[in-house]
Amino acid sequence: MKNVVVLGSTGSIGTQTLDVIARYPDRLRIVRLAAGSNEEALRKQATRLDVKNLAVYAPKGQTDIPSGMSALEDLARLPEADIVVVSVAGVIGLVPTAAAIDAGKDIALASKEVLVAGGEWIMPRIREKGVKITPIDSEHSAIFQCLQGYQTDQISELILTASGGPFKGWSKAQLGEITPEQALNHPTWRMGGKITIDSATLMNKGLESIEAKWLFGVEMDQVDVVVHPQSIVHSFVKFTDGSVLGQLGWPNMRLPIAYALLHPERVDGGLPPWSPLDSPSLTFEAVDHKTFPSIMIAREAAKRGGTVPAAMNAANEEAANAFLRGETSFLGIADVVERVTQRHERCDATYEAILDADREARIRTREALNLQEAIR
Ligand code: MG
Repeated sequence: MKNVVVLGSTGSIGTQTLDVIARYPDRLRIVRLAAGSNEEALRKQATRLDVKNLAVYAPKGQTDIPSGMSALEDLARLPEADIVVVSVAGVIGLVPTAAAIDAGKDIALASKEVLVAGGEWIMPRIREKGVKITPIDSEHSAIFQCLQGYQTDQISELILTASGGPFKGWSKAQLGEITPEQALNHPTWRMGGKITIDSATLMNKGLESIEAKWLFGVEMDQVDVVVHPQSIVHSFVKFTDGSVLGQLGWPNMRLPIAYALLHPERVDGGLPPWSPLDSPSLTFEAVDHKTFPSIMIAREAAKRGGTVPAAMNAANEEAANAFLRGETSFLGIADVVERVTQRHERCDATYEAILDADREARIRTREALNLQEAIR
């Protein structure tokens, strides 16, 4: 029996995680739940699952539930917890993830921003503490599955697949007029707001490229992205002998969630069956980096290293949320992220420096967005 803490239980991944866990009551038990701000949904989950101890990161009003970052850290450190699912929105997962690792807990990570901002600092700690980190991200789960039985030095390249988002094939001129509603309409995946915007700008693949570098211990230049609109092949691994393995199936997060929690076992996740005849034409095309510069911005940030990816990630969170509020244009997102990232002065990736870089980049991004607004 594994005791599971879920940080971010009311979001898209969080609710699916609870569904997966409910299928295996003899194997997985939820011991604590935390939500970002949706206290009502959190209380309903707690009643349904008979979970006594809760936390909420940013409650909307007065509450008797422990709140704030320290409440998330306490949950992550809980003595009876074996594995902590981190599925909060964005980089706020960094602090509780660090607390869980220090307390010797295994991590199932859905919040890719944690490794984007903090990978350089977190990965050595994970090795030092001997804890496991498993991905809850379809691409990284695919790679993780393909790598079972292989060593890092046998990897030639990791090839992440990208749906291309709702604006695949659009020109820069067409992208200028996009509304948040259009950007939230993803062709193959149903997800939260911020990640859906990241999928439309392709920054999601930039973040995932950095996440892959850290999870699998490869260089940034060994991670590539290919557009695959059907989202059936979830990613590829090319090995040093030229052989390429991929993992296929319907786009459905239940498999990555179950695999992250129970691997190396393969359990019946209640998925609809897939066969090659269901998808007779799988297609692949190159990324249009000129129209969608976000992947290159992320890769450059990762190559500079230190606190630069943390600054880049923070700028992106601020800019994507500003776009959702109608405060910047679609093209304004990558534009401001690139400028804030370029101007960031790199520091070594200590815990404090990462949090400082995050804070400072948010301020710089808001300043740049206000300037954009003034010019418009
Ligand atoms: Mg993904």
